[in-house]
Amino acid sequence: MVKQYAVIGLGRFGTSLAGNLLQAGQEVLGVDVNEERVEDAQSAVTHAVIADSTDPEALKSIGIRNFDTVIVAIGNDIQASILTVLLLKEEGVKKVIAKALNKPHGQVLDKVGADWVIFPERDMGERVAHMLLSPNVLNFIELSKEYSVEEIKVPASMTNRTLRELDVRAKYNLSVIAIRHGKNINISPSPDETIEEGDVLVVIGGNRDLERFANLQ
Ligand code: ATP
Repeated sequence: MVKQYAVIGLGRFGTSLAGNLLQAGQEVLGVDVNEERVEDAQSAVTHAVIADSTDPEALKSIGIRNFDTVIVAIGNDIQASILTVLLLKEEGVKKVIAKALNKPHGQVLDKVGADWVIFPERDMGERVAHMLLSPNVLNFIELSKEYSVEEIKVPASMTNRTLRELDVRAKYNLSVIAIRHGKNINISPSPDETIEEGDVLVVIGGNRDLERFANLQ
């Protein structure tokens, strides 16, 4: 389904977000107060306008309330970011997503009505640290503070054995939900499936159990 998005602030983060939405076939309006930024972002958006999002009249004339989701990707100018979120909510925009630079900034964005506050630098730092500490983890999704889904490179000691023999559920308290073998992915592996060298297991479970499993040799 095609939705209408507006991205306010066309820095690296805003432009990347807009470009990915556009590539996925969505309609994206880019907004920035800086003319050069608007010109540079042309290929990442459907339309781009020069406007100051802290000006209520400018937001009205863009017709901002007609957008399904508005993303506020202004970071360094914390005051502008907060005021923009406040005005968007006052205008009646249903879903406002805002980028925070730090915790206090995030708390204020939350207070003025942001529906979702994101911390790109903090989250990416966490991800990179996690992957450095567990080199066998190729990717992961945090389901909650305690549970995750991880893509884990098969340890050498597990190759050429079946899932039944490995008995991951009983031994490690984890469930293997898929096996990636090169470009193919088997999303309902049978217990008799043999694990080969280079395979990647998609595993769900508790973070401690996952950590133990990912550090096996
Ligand atoms: P990034 O980290 O995404 O590269 P940045 O460091 O270039 O961002 P930020 O201060 O986070 O800069 O701002 C992102 C963009 O938001 C800039 O292009 C800036 O011109 C724009 N911007 C700042 N204030 C406003 C405003 N009031 N209205 C519209 N755009 C704004």
